[in-house]
Amino acid sequence: MSAFLDKKLEKLVPYTPGEQPHGIEGLIKLNTNENPFPPSPMVIEAVNRTVSSLNLYSDPACVRAVEAIAAFYGVRKENVFVSNGSDETLSFIFHGLCENGAAFPDITYGFYKVFADMFGVRKTVVPLDDDFNIQIDDYKDIKSTVVIANPNAPTGICLPLSEIERLLNQDLNRLVVVDEAYIDFGGESAVKLIDEYKNLLVVQTFSKSRSLAGGRIGFAVADAEIIADLNRMKYAFNPYNVNALSIAAAEAAMKDTAYFETCRSTVIKNREYIAKKLRELGFTVLDSKANFVFAGRNKKVSAADYFEKLRRNNILVRYFPEGRSADFVRISVGAMEQMEKLYEVTKTILGEM
Ligand code: PMP
Repeated sequence: MSAFLDKKLEKLVPYTPGEQPHGIEGLIKLNTNENPFPPSPMVIEAVNRTVSSLNLYSDPACVRAVEAIAAFYGVRKENVFVSNGSDETLSFIFHGLCENGAAFPDITYGFYKVFADMFGVRKTVVPLDDDFNIQIDDYKDIKSTVVIANPNAPTGICLPLSEIERLLNQDLNRLVVVDEAYIDFGGESAVKLIDEYKNLLVVQTFSKSRSLAGGRIGFAVADAEIIADLNRMKYAFNPYNVNALSIAAAEAAMKDTAYFETCRSTVIKNREYIAKKLRELGFTVLDSKANFVFAGRNKKVSAADYFEKLRRNNILVRYFPEGRSADFVRISVGAMEQMEKLYEVTKTILGEM
């Protein structure tokens, strides 16, 4: 820490991203919930077409991406905001839309806590129940902005839309942020509720279901006034927040619905395969509607040992050693060969114990 750091940041504990190792031959990377499939061929073509214009600034309004998202969801352009990954949208939310604090579950996306600390937002941490479910009633007296991931991470458990509506109706003057990073893998999006609920802000990403984690594109869908608030912050911080290649990629990815459908249905199929296999081997696997499974509580191997042993076998998954998460590992759903290999290695690990 230098002598120049603002005192208010001295205690800030930053987010720890999953490892991004390069050049390890044969590594099966199942630790950051990326899509195992490459971007759509239409995306690659669109990006290639755009490279020669990189001498120009990108479109600050991200119009082509905004229009493609608006068309996909049947909303107006004024209801859509595009950002540099959904992390950037989330940062604007914590920075500018959490004046009365932010409430989120104890087990959820770890960045919420970091953003709250970064921007000096008061936190209310609401424990999940014993089965790792969000209990909507626990939020009824909370006045702060509520931020939930649906499906939640790292559990994968998804709330039905009726529960989201119950949360929204608890207090129509309280903002509810629904982070739908994983919604395309089996949940129902709350985007269809934005006309009815002016207190709803849905956040999504191209990183998971649209194979563009490295493109860093996220977006929000909400009432036009909330979108204008996000733009107010963006234009006060980084007007060219999304680069030209990523805007082109986002537009093409949204338009290639056939590719999107194939990739996401394959991931769902592979998730059901690995969840079943791990259960057969004695793991508790929570009911996931995301592109990962949260698996653990195996009598033969602790989650910490399982994580280490997978790693020695060149399979990288994610382990969160704090609290109740410590009994589980989070395994991203990959291609079928990767899932089969994971299953084989897991059988060997359990046999070794
Ligand atoms: N929300 C959740 C729940 C996530 O798991 C992630 C990815 N780690 C993000 C948001 C951020 O994704 P990105 O910035 O790549 O859009």
